Parts: sequence; C-alpha cells; structure tokens
Amino acid sequence: VCGYKIKVISDSYENFVTELGSADLILTPTRRLATRLNQDYASLQAKNNNPVWQIDIISLNGWLERLWNDRQDDGQQKSILRLNAWQNLIVWQAITDNNEQLARLAIDAWSILKEWNIPWQSIDSNNVSSDIQVFLTWCQQYQALCAKENFCDSASMLSLLSPSSKELNKIYLIGFTDIKPAVLKLLDFNTHIEILEYRVPDAMINHAPQVDAKSELVQAALWAKALLNQELIAPIGIIIPDLAKRFNEVENIFSRTIMPQTLLANHYFDQKPYNISSGNKLSDFHIIAAAFNLLKNSLLREHKAPSEWSEFIKNLLHTSGWPGERVLNSLEYQVVKRFYELLTDYVTLDCVQKPISYATAVSQLYQQASTTVFQGESEHAPIQILGALEGEGLYFQNLWVMGLDNESWPPACAPHPFLPIDMQRQYHMPHASQEREYIFTSHLTRRFTEQAHHVILSYPAMIDDKTLQPSHLIRDYPILKQDTPAELEIFDLNLSLETWQDANVPFKKDKVSGGVGLLQSQSVCPFQAFARYRLKVEVSELSQSGLTFAERGELTHAALEYFWKTIESSTALHALNNDELNVMINTSVDHALTQFTPSKHLELEKIRLHKLVSDWLQLEKARSEFKVIHTEKSIDIELSHLKLRTRIDRIDQLSSGEVILIDYKTGQVFQNDWLDVRPRQVQLPLYAIGFPIASSVAIAKVKANDLQFQHYTEFDLPFDEMKAHWQNVLTELADEFFAGTAQVAPIDDEQTCRYCGLELLCRIRSA
Ligand code: SF4
Repeated sequence: VCGYKIKVISDSYENFVTELGSADLILTPTRRLATRLNQDYASLQAKNNNPVWQIDIISLNGWLERLWNDRQDDGQQKSILRLNAWQNLIVWQAITDNNEQLARLAIDAWSILKEWNIPWQSIDSNNVSSDIQVFLTWCQQYQALCAKENFCDSASMLSLLSPSSKELNKIYLIGFTDIKPAVLKLLDFNTHIEILEYRVPDAMINHAPQVDAKSELVQAALWAKALLNQELIAPIGIIIPDLAKRFNEVENIFSRTIMPQTLLANHYFDQKPYNISSGNKLSDFHIIAAAFNLLKNSLLREHKAPSEWSEFIKNLLHTSGWPGERVLNSLEYQVVKRFYELLTDYVTLDCVQKPISYATAVSQLYQQASTTVFQGESEHAPIQILGALEGEGLYFQNLWVMGLDNESWPPACAPHPFLPIDMQRQYHMPHASQEREYIFTSHLTRRFTEQAHHVILSYPAMIDDKTLQPSHLIRDYPILKQDTPAELEIFDLNLSLETWQDANVPFKKDKVSGGVGLLQSQSVCPFQAFARYRLKVEVSELSQSGLTFAERGELTHAALEYFWKTIESSTALHALNNDELNVMINTSVDHALTQFTPSKHLELEKIRLHKLVSDWLQLEKARSEFKVIHTEKSIDIELSHLKLRTRIDRIDQLSSGEVILIDYKTGQVFQNDWLDVRPRQVQLPLYAIGFPIASSVAIAKVKANDLQFQHYTEFDLPFDEMKAHWQNVLTELADEFFAGTAQVAPIDDEQTCRYCGLELLCRIRSA
C-alpha cells in the first residue's frame, strides 16, 4: 500500500499481536479491526500475567477526529463548525433544490476531490458534460456558504489538520487496501511508518462452485453451523460482497439454519451465534413506523427550530404512550434507543437551517431514519458475517468468501457522474476504470487467502438462468467437492410453496348503508374500506392545541351555509355595501362558531375565518349571475346493494338555467382524479348521479392564499355520457365492497397511505 515497507509475520498470530506492542500508534481502516486488535492484545497481556499495559490502536477516522479535537483544544479552530453528515446533507440539499439523491451524489464527488487534493476550480468547465458544469456551480455556492458561515465538512477538514507535533518512533498500518492522498500527506510527517501484516502460513484454500446464490448462502450457513458444533472457539468469517442488498435473505437463511427454533414463534433471540454487519433501515422497524404514524397525524402550523421540534416530538411521543406499555425485547429496546439518539442529533441542525414547519421536521426525521441502517448488538458472536471491505485485516480460523463469479469479481467499473472520467482514471479514483477494479479486487482476494487457516472462495454457477464461471482470480485454487446436504433440499422445497390470498369476505345481507367515505375508501384502497367500514377500525387522532384540520373545514362549511341561506344570490351579494357585507360575514362566522366552547383559540379562529370568507366572497362577486338553490343538501343514492346518504355542499343555478353541483375543498383536485376506473375523488361523480338535473360540477377551493372556483362543464365525453360512465364505475366499486373485496392495494401508496393511519393493521410496509 502506497509504497510503505511491509513487515510480515507468519509464524503465529500470537507473535503478530505481540508485535503490536512495539508501535506508538496503530491505524486500522475500520473500527471493527481496531476493537478486535485491542481485545486480542488485552487477552495476550492477561495470559502473560501483565496487569498494566499501554497501546494506541485506533481506526483512521477515529485518529482524524482526535487530531481535530486536539486542534480545537489548542484554540486554533474554535470558530469553525465541523458539519456532521446530517448537517452537511441539509446544507447540500438547500443547494440542490432539495433533491436528496443529487445532494448525496454531490457530497460524494466533493469528498473525492478533497481526499485527492484536487481543487474543483482546476476542472475546466468548458470541456465537461452539463451535469459536471452544474456540479461545479454547486461547488462554488457551497464553498461560498462554508466561507461565510465558517462551516467545514469531514473531507475538507483533512487539509486543515496537521499531525501532532510529538514525534512517534513507529506507526503500523494494518488492513489497508488503499489510502487516500490527503491522508497520505498527513501521514508524511513521520518516516517510521510500516505496514504490518499477519499471513497465515500454509492456508488451505479452495474454490467452491455452488448451484446458485441461494444455495451458496445455505451451504455457507450449514458449514458455519457444523464448525460451531465442533466447538471451535476461533472466529468464523463469512464475507458477502453485496451483503447490504441481501441483508433480509442472509438473516432469514442463517436464522433458520443455525437457530431453527426461531421458526416456532415470531421471537427475537438476544444471543445469536452470528453477527451480520448490515441491518434494516431504522424506519422499517414496526415500532418506529408506529412512532411516525403518531407524528404525522398531528397538525401544527408553526415554525420552530429543530431543537424545539426535537423536544416537542419527544414529549408528544411520551404523552401518546409510545412505545407502549409492554416490556420491550432487547432488539426493540435498542431500536427505540437509536431513535432517541436520532432525535438528539436532530438538534444539531439548528446551526444549518432556519425555523421550519412541523411537517418538514417530521419529514427530515423520516428521511434520516430511512437511511440509518440499524444493527442489533452481537459483535462478539463467533460467526461474523461481513461485507467485502469490513473483513480487511481481520484474522479468522475459517473463512468463506462468496459471490466471486466472473461477472461480479472484479465488479464492473462505475465512474462518478459528477467528475470528469479522464481525471478519475488518471488519479485511480474508486470504481473509475476496469483496471483499477482489477487491481483492487486482486489485492483483496490475496488478503482473503492469507487471513485464515481454511479459506473457501465460492461462486454461484447460475443466476437468473445465466451460467457463470468462477472469477479468474479464484479459479486456480483446487475445487472443493461438497455434497448437497439434505437441509439444502428442504430449503429448495420452499420454492414450490404457493401463497394464495383470499381477500373476499362477502356480506350476508341484502343491503348495506353508509356514506360517501365508504366508496371513497373502496376506490383508493379496498383494505382501507374493509377496515374502516366493516371492521369499524378507528384511528385515534392525537390531542393537539387548537382546532383540527377537519374541524376548521366544518367551520368554513357552516359559515358559508349560513351566509348563502340568508343572501341566496349573486344579485343580493352585489347589493350589500361594505358595512353590510361585513356584518353579514360576522354573523355567519359567529353562527358557525356556536358549536364550540369559547376560548383563546376560537378568538384567533374567528379572525382567520372572517378573512377567509371575506376573500372568498370577493371571488364569488366576479362570477356570472347565479342563485344558490340548495346548501348542504342531503340526498340518498342507491348503488347496487349499497344505500348511501350524503350531502352536497351547495347547488347553484345560473341565469341560463344551468344547475351546478359545488364541492368545497381545501386541497387540489385534478380532472383526472374523476376519470379513472378507480377515481381518486368520488364525491362529485356521486353527486352527479344522485342529482341528475345538474349539468356541470365545480370545485370551490376555499383555501387561504389559494382561492379558486374551478367549473367543469366539459370532460372528454359529453356530461351525460360522463354521468353514465360514473354510474358504472361507482356501481362496480359498490359491488366490490359488498363482495368483501379487501386487498391491500393503495391507488398511489405514497399519497394514499400518508393520511390513512392503518399501516400497522394492513402491514403495507412488510408486504
Ligand atoms: S395504509 Fe395504505 S395500504 Fe394500508 S389500508 Fe391504508 S391506504 Fe391501504
């Protein structure tokens, strides 16, 4: 690595560990390796009856942090704020128009440039793609912002550090496959740097073809189980290069093979004999999904700093009884603890953004929870399942490395889209060229073969009907012949299991009554209708200060109903002078508010409602002449076996005689919402067939700062044919509900599930 002298120890692992004591500083690429070497060194001291010792083994990132903190303590960089990863993401998102994916790509590219000591200004913007040009303008903005606010990210920190002034006699580097140039520059101060390697002498190495990727996992699990049963205490390593993508499959196969008792019940075992260095997203745990479900049902309209929202959310969860009364198992306890850590970290965003709304705060927390990979604590388990780079430098008694077929090992190159390809190749940046990938994986493969006494290098012979060969980095090792164990056949039997969902639970009576909400739910998600209107599931609303969103909507309806019952037409509206209009609005608002007990909130509500109604009536004045012939008109509609009772918000008649059905709304409605075979909005189509003399429909969007009167007289079809279409569509939905069709099938899962509140019952997240 990087031209340093290599010191190899191969007589015994104990001698290698003893050698650690001769260095002043030992750097490792991962915290895992540093921890392991510290433990091994401590065990050796205990074995030698040495009660006191001193050693400095630390991961590279830990060492860089230490240098930064030393500088802070010296008072040299006090005014600079080191951005943590979350703060940095928020800063970049502000620059990339809130696009999280682009922000992450930009952070990667920026970090690579910093780690390679290449100023972004040295890239000639005239000779690069438009994507790179955009990235360069972002760099300019980011740099200007960091200079103005005194921000510094982890990669930029490298150029600000200088090594400790204390001269060290010897530094060992252990387990590095490569080191970034900016770090090398930092290490340059000391000429006594060596690479220390333990190479297992005479390791037994085989390559092992496997039927496919699943069999490969099962075989590795059975192999590890057999070694455990022989009561070998030395660590067993399993390296899976694409572990992060296959976490659930790996967990499933290892738990069933090594701990078949987990099949008997949905039970979490604290003491697993294996540790998987990957995990699930924090947001995917049911207990965390429940927390977000509670949080997103609250409505607040204030702007606060993240630290205030953090405190507020902690209190809100606490008063709502989350995470529940039963005793949490160890995994749940760790997950909840990690979530609270996230809330505490959230406070740090105060420095990088202005006060934000509650909805933004919840969405930022969700974004972070969905990118936080959570691992249960079982680091000391005898079987360690790791990704390709996580095994760097670790010593095992037995090691299995899988997925080494000719297409995946070395992997195809994937240069960064925001950096010029020539530059990436010239500086041998990660994934820049096939040559670089080959050198890198050759080195890793060689290290695998030196890390354990018995090494199996396997590959799947078939993936998706495609035949694969062993990577030529492993094919020269002798083939290991393995029998197909009976257990593998049992696993394969699972392939022939069918799942069949019976989601129909028909009614056993002739007629069913309901409201428009029933048909709306059936249209957007049949399970939602089943749960709400058959099982009568109610999602409790969180208590909150002030009125709920729904209560505010009711108030607006009530005020407008009273107003139009009294005024009755546009002619009468125009005849009112300003004072009379004001009095009339006041009376309407007061009338609407009589249903609530007077309070401070209601005073504020009165002011808000008065302004809203007043603004709305200005818009009504601009319409052509009309009479209000009904407000809140109750109608009964029969659709197949369903008897629906509903109320039409308002019915107007124009001077031409045309009758318009009007629906008051606060959100956006699009024509397409009514046109599909599963309409997103069923209200107006239902009114249209329930009040046949109407010849058009309208949405009255009564929303502060976004008032609109959308009058629809024409669709793709003439209005009469449109009504016939709606009659068919709504009858089919009614028949579906009556037949008990209850699939979990949200029409647009993001939007539909967002305000539903039933996700813990329907388990859409685990589908
Ligand atoms: S959460 Fe989504 S999938 Fe589940 S019932 Fe509600 S809408 Fe349907």
